[in-house]
Amino acid sequence: MNAMTIAHMAGVLTSAIQAADRLELDALKGPALADMDLDRIRDIKRDCSTCISLLDLHQPARPARKGATMSDRQFQESKRIALARQGWHCLRCGRNLHDTSVWPGRSGHHRQLRRRADPAVRDLPCNIVELCGSGTTGCHGWAHAHPAEAERFGYIIPSWRAPLSVPIRDWNGDWWWLLDDGTAQRLTQIEIIEWQSTWKEES
Ligand SMILES: [Zn+2]
Repeated sequence: MNAMTIAHMAGVLTSAIQAADRLELDALKGPALADMDLDRIRDIKRDCSTCISLLDLHQPARPARKGATMSDRQFQESKRIALARQGWHCLRCGRNLHDTSVWPGRSGHHRQLRRRADPAVRDLPCNIVELCGSGTTGCHGWAHAHPAEAERFGYIIPSWRAPLSVPIRDWNGDWWWLLDDGTAQRLTQIEIIEWQSTWKEES
């Protein structure tokens, strides 16, 4: 398979996951689908993600580009900013993240998923939070395994929303706007109510 074919197939699979995301969200909001259907939707998503990972393994290695290196540097910097912003707590469960040797450790999570995010905001502090665990364990694993619930609390952002416009709920139940400069601003009660009604209308 050449790189074009791989990229095309990954695109098709990503669209399938996005379609399944929407179905799952609809199913969770109304009694339209039975539990069995919900399980099948989640199976499809899991299978698509597995295929994308397998396709990635077959991507020919690209020569290092300046942009890629800068993006990685920005990601590292944003993770550092996120840790300080969160006071070294897992944003979702509040677990202390100082000691990485304590299970399940910690990792940087892209709210708008790395693969789908606009490269201009992908690695900025407004799109990065630190969670306990890895992509499959702890709260980081939870976010990827429960996209609909994660989306409701701002841990996953669909590609059509801007990360700056989506607040996130922390372990205390407080909601925050994550700003471009790496700081966070707590939502007022009115803003929370407004956000939740916007979310219901648009989702
Ligand atoms: Zn956690």
